[in-house]
Amino acid sequence: MSSPLQSLYQEVILEHYRNPRNKGELEDSDVEIHMNNPTCGDEIVLQLRVRDERIEAVRFRGHGCSISQAAASMMTRQLEGRSLDDAHALTARFTEMMHGSEEAAADKSLGDLRALAGVAKFPVRVRCALLAWDALQQAAQKVRGG
Ligand code: ZN
Repeated sequence: MSSPLQSLYQEVILEHYRNPRNKGELEDSDVEIHMNNPTCGDEIVLQLRVRDERIEAVRFRGHGCSISQAAASMMTRQLEGRSLDDAHALTARFTEMMHGSEEAAADKSLGDLRALAGVAKFPVRVRCALLAWDALQQAAQKVRGG
């Protein structure tokens, strides 16, 4: 039995917030996107290095609430080595989960990102969880010259 608030702050989320993965500056990145979420004060800078449509390296910097920063950390862990098409599919799946899809929340391809499923119950925090993914989509568009 866990309350909605407990599921919002699962241990894995707090762990990523305290020890973010892939946080820092990427040398020779191909694209850099700044995104912010004024309603909460979250900021994310996402950098990608892309070779042959594949994400070779990814880093982020930023500050804000634990949901926004943990989501960014968890996202970057899933991205390295993925094709841009794959990353797009993952973004779509994660977004479905954030909009309350139970089918998406049960999808093992999301890995530990599923710990964020409880955020869907808090509409004002969904924006926090999607901030890094919005940056990812913009980055992919930019690197493809779109
Ligand atoms: Zn936030």
